[in-house]
Amino acid sequence: ELPLAKIAFDNDSSWPRNSPVPYAALCATFEKIEATTKRLEIISYCSAFLFQVLDLSPSSFLTVVYLFINRLGPDYEGVEIGLGEAILMKAIGECTGRSLAQIRADYRTTGDLGTVARDSRNNQPTMFKPKPLTADGVFKNLKEIAKITGSQSQAKKVGIINKMLAACQGNEAKYLVRSLEGKLRIHLAEKTVLSAIAQAAVSFEAKKTNKRPDPANIVKAEEILRAVYSEMPTYDLIIPAIIKDGIMKLRESCQLTPCVPLKPMLAKPTKSITEVLDRFSDQKFTCEYKYDGERAQIHYVAETGTTRVYSRNSEDMSAKYPDIVSAIPRFITEQTTSFVLDCEAVAWDRETNRILPFQVLSTRKRKDVQEGSIKVRVCVFAFDLLYLNGRALLRTSLSERRELLHSHFQEVEGEFSFAVYRDGSNVDEIQEFLDQSVKDSCEGLMVKMLDGEESGYEPSKRSRNWLKLKKDYLTGVGDSLDLVVIGAFYGRGKRTNWYGAFLLACYNPDTQEYETICKIGTGFSEEILESLHQSLSKTVIDQPRSYYSYAQSTATAPDVWFEPTMVWEVLAADLSLSPVYKAALSELGRGKGVSLRFPRFIRIRDDKAVEQATSSEQVSEFYLAQASAGGNQAADEFAE
Ligand code: ATP
Repeated sequence: ELPLAKIAFDNDSSWPRNSPVPYAALCATFEKIEATTKRLEIISYCSAFLFQVLDLSPSSFLTVVYLFINRLGPDYEGVEIGLGEAILMKAIGECTGRSLAQIRADYRTTGDLGTVARDSRNNQPTMFKPKPLTADGVFKNLKEIAKITGSQSQAKKVGIINKMLAACQGNEAKYLVRSLEGKLRIHLAEKTVLSAIAQAAVSFEAKKTNKRPDPANIVKAEEILRAVYSEMPTYDLIIPAIIKDGIMKLRESCQLTPCVPLKPMLAKPTKSITEVLDRFSDQKFTCEYKYDGERAQIHYVAETGTTRVYSRNSEDMSAKYPDIVSAIPRFITEQTTSFVLDCEAVAWDRETNRILPFQVLSTRKRKDVQEGSIKVRVCVFAFDLLYLNGRALLRTSLSERRELLHSHFQEVEGEFSFAVYRDGSNVDEIQEFLDQSVKDSCEGLMVKMLDGEESGYEPSKRSRNWLKLKKDYLTGVGDSLDLVVIGAFYGRGKRTNWYGAFLLACYNPDTQEYETICKIGTGFSEEILESLHQSLSKTVIDQPRSYYSYAQSTATAPDVWFEPTMVWEVLAADLSLSPVYKAALSELGRGKGVSLRFPRFIRIRDDKAVEQATSSEQVSEFYLAQASAGGNQAADEFAE
């Protein structure tokens, strides 16, 4: 018996067919999910509810999925919600007639504005029974709030929030406020929702024919959905396709589509050339320069005259790079009518015709750039072609994709180049090419499988078929880490006016927690410390978030805590086990977390969202890789 069927049966919060999904029913499911940490149980609750929605109100399925993952649309549309504490406290106060001081005091005790809102609301006498909220109504309001800008925007937002809060009953206010904050905090990761969608869809298909869902089909459906989602990450197109043609046909109905950015393929770090050779042994591979700029996925459709440049993060950067957009006609050939290119945009000195360091690129304005006023020019280095003239190339071999790239595009000095490469080599040749790449202002090499099935493009995957070989990092950890700043310590001496050191964390997508990994005070210039103080002091919070995992001792606690907003690239000498830090604690299962030794600040990564920081799993992999190289004992002894 599948747990899903049982739970769906037991579900008492049903509603009439073809009527809107009650928000209360959704919140009842949130409540059940929040009460457990068991992944299978979470999937069951989530899929049972989705099954019900498919059965009773299929037109609300998309909305419910968005409410589950707490997003308002695909990433590239950039519509986000994440209201601050101040505005929410104001709304709760206005709606419940409680003073700000009372609300703040409750918040200090519980650490959760959601519970504060619920309790404030439930203790309030109500004259009349308000009209119940619906999932669609709430979602529409969330979207509206996210889009409000300009004068009086705060009052307008508070107005809509108040109306919704006034209609809340039971637990609804708790989840509504958390959704408004942009953090549902019920341990529901997006990959869990994907599994639940697959289960619900297969069970629903089975129900139509009065059969029991076949577990093998569920596994298959999950695989299909995951693959399609990384190729075309938008529920706006996937969910209607599931409803129309069924989940098993998703591969045919949804494919890579220009102007829907796919999740980029990622590389695994390596620490030595011999490690690279061990990996590829007798298979054909290629080495490419690893350019140090910003990843740019360029989409183009001649027929509609559409061009888009997307970031690593699927953000639309077309307005940041009007120069790339206007250069496209110069670098395509006549027979090129549509494409998706994977590239690196690199700062370029037009006088000396040379690559400039990443630091120069980071000074370029991010928004509303006028082409005439651009000071930092970029050259696009194309390393992959994912779609050409109506055909997706993801399962085509890299050697073929590269051939198509070279035959359908042309280099334009200082605007567009092909990534420099050299195919299959021995240790000496790779070393020589690596040295050459560094002389040519690159970060090192990317080593990629060249032929056969394994050389296909794997969206969103950190794959063994792409290895990065970074020059600086060949000793030590093998790669830099991208970590979230969650706290700071006041500076001393010259740094008294600013923060002098910071507390960093990695991210665990399974528990949705930030796990502390080190304190960092090295690598900062005075200018950077000053500007960090300026931006971070705006994100100070009264107390650590409930989803921060840190040692409770006051000796190691930072002076201030921050909202998680910023990702930094950090280098370290090595990793050691630590009783004080919590990174990868559960992954490694050794009773201690992992910490970085001698961490050094490299740069701010504003192309990464906090959820894309180095994961606990990666930290654990780094630690184990170091162990297999015999490096752990020394590091751990030092740390003891
Ligand atoms: P992560 O740390 O998650 O792997 P990252 O963005 O920090 O991601 P890097 O470790 O710097 O990535 O390495 C991969 C990045 O290198 C790509 O995202 C891309 O922006 C850049 N890059 C430069 N040249 C190439 C190339 N020839 N092939 C692939 N990627 C390249």
